[in-house]
Amino acid sequence: MARYRGPVCRLCRREGMKLFLKGERCYKEKCAIERRNAPPGQHGMGRRRKVRAYGLQLREKQKLRRIYGLLEGQFHGTFVEANRRKGITGETLLQLLELRLDNVVYSLGFATSRTQARQLVRHGHIEIDGRRVDIPSMRVRQGMEITVREGSRKNAHISEAVEFAQGRGIPPWLELAPTALKGKVLENPAREDIRFPIQEQLIVELYSR
Ligand code: SF4
Repeated sequence: MARYRGPVCRLCRREGMKLFLKGERCYKEKCAIERRNAPPGQHGMGRRRKVRAYGLQLREKQKLRRIYGLLEGQFHGTFVEANRRKGITGETLLQLLELRLDNVVYSLGFATSRTQARQLVRHGHIEIDGRRVDIPSMRVRQGMEITVREGSRKNAHISEAVEFAQGRGIPPWLELAPTALKGKVLENPAREDIRFPIQEQLIVELYSR
């Protein structure tokens, strides 16, 4: 399935919540959800549909997939891996998604959105433990150091993102040295560290049908 290239605010309106897909704008009054939280389309406001269990499960999956910007196949592959591991499948799924390099670059504040973070990684601006990496889906592990490469430290997008992220805060499982543009993975993220409202159990039920 091809990557979605339409207006991203439409995706938030479809899910009825902020998915934080557009960087700084998501934190301002201009956010489409702040201005008009209704499903997209001509009848968005007036539409009242009975949502069945399958519909709820599907929406929950779409929300999570869109937050992390994954294609259907990538998302399903991550679920399969979570399901194979020991522990609670839904929580493991969230943990695997959080540990993606693009998410960590965003969470450390080197980018204003996960999309921008993905671009930074692809364009070779990021290194892990001193080695350049360009695979956004790479999974980071405890103890790894994620740094903006020497030659990219003056990149205007990165500087603006770091400044903007200061008000946003970083998750407790990461550590940041803002002046060195260096982050470290202190531990694996716990369920309570993932703050957006998602019912991961519904996604497990969807894939267990
Ligand atoms: Fe979603 Fe951000 Fe658009 Fe708001 S500004 S609707 S959070 S993408």
